[in-house]
Amino acid sequence: MKNYKAIAVFSGGLDSILSVKWMQKLGYTVYPVFFSAPYFPADKAQYSARENGLDLIVHDITPEHLLMLPNPKYGYGKHFNPCIDCHALLFATAGKMLEEMNADFIISGEVLGQRPMSQRKDAINAVAKLSGIKDLIIRPLSQRLLAPTLPIREGWVDIDQLLDIQGRGRHRQMALAKELGIMYYPMPGGGCLLTDTGYSKRLRELLDHNITDPYQIELLRFGRHFRLSPEVKFIVGRDKHENDAISALYQGSIFFDLPDYPGPVGILTGGEIDQNLISLAASILMYYNKKAPSDQPILYGEKTLDHRIAVTRANPQKIEQLRIG
Ligand code: SF4
Repeated sequence: MKNYKAIAVFSGGLDSILSVKWMQKLGYTVYPVFFSAPYFPADKAQYSARENGLDLIVHDITPEHLLMLPNPKYGYGKHFNPCIDCHALLFATAGKMLEEMNADFIISGEVLGQRPMSQRKDAINAVAKLSGIKDLIIRPLSQRLLAPTLPIREGWVDIDQLLDIQGRGRHRQMALAKELGIMYYPMPGGGCLLTDTGYSKRLRELLDHNITDPYQIELLRFGRHFRLSPEVKFIVGRDKHENDAISALYQGSIFFDLPDYPGPVGILTGGEIDQNLISLAASILMYYNKKAPSDQPILYGEKTLDHRIAVTRANPQKIEQLRIG
């Protein structure tokens, strides 16, 4: 008998681990794939897969996701999270990978009724329809409660071997994890920055300026952001962790620091930068370093801090006017 193979749309959470392990237990070859973008990076899923002995494939879908994000057919959740369109894109992309991976169908860890918005029956159906591969998706944890898709109708998968989990409770999943010897799984939620208020506002603002440069998107994860011109932003660290991250990410930007007075660092980045923008950026950095005397010069430069500028601190109204989010 043919050894049927499946691609798993893998999030790294318990339900996706269970769906992969369950299908493996039934004898299927499963390729777990994590679809990544700067606002849902792969690190947590990679850790989760490693801890569970799964060979994870990471597939970057940033360009396609950024195309969909400004105008999702099914709109957004509470923030900038277009969950139905996003899920559909993951499935559609997995569908395109079937041939190259010589796989037959797609699985996912969705559980009927677990999340009020995205896992209602109508939402699951909308995702499947929008993905264009509706008939090739199997949800091993809930499939007995759903309409049979092609792998079931064709007998590639026996419906009686699949499960009927539904609802928000987690006790059946916990018991199944124990049965399958799953020792590690992360707490639910928290993996997608599109559900974060501040990040969502910063990303939306960037896309409103038609900026999709991956470096600029990467920078959105850290610091306070200020729009100084249609192309140029100034970013100021909020704590040591963010100062370190901004310093590490800094490339092709102008770096600002007050090395003798502990406090934030900043970078000016994005486009044409003139002396007015440098003065404005320096005045913002001074605003956030209350310990430095008002006439203290700020050091700045591209590769080395070989320039100095003394400026008046920006006032709170200016900060409010320029700050994004
Ligand atoms: S929470 Fe984020 S990653 Fe998950 S479906 Fe929604 S938009 Fe996509």
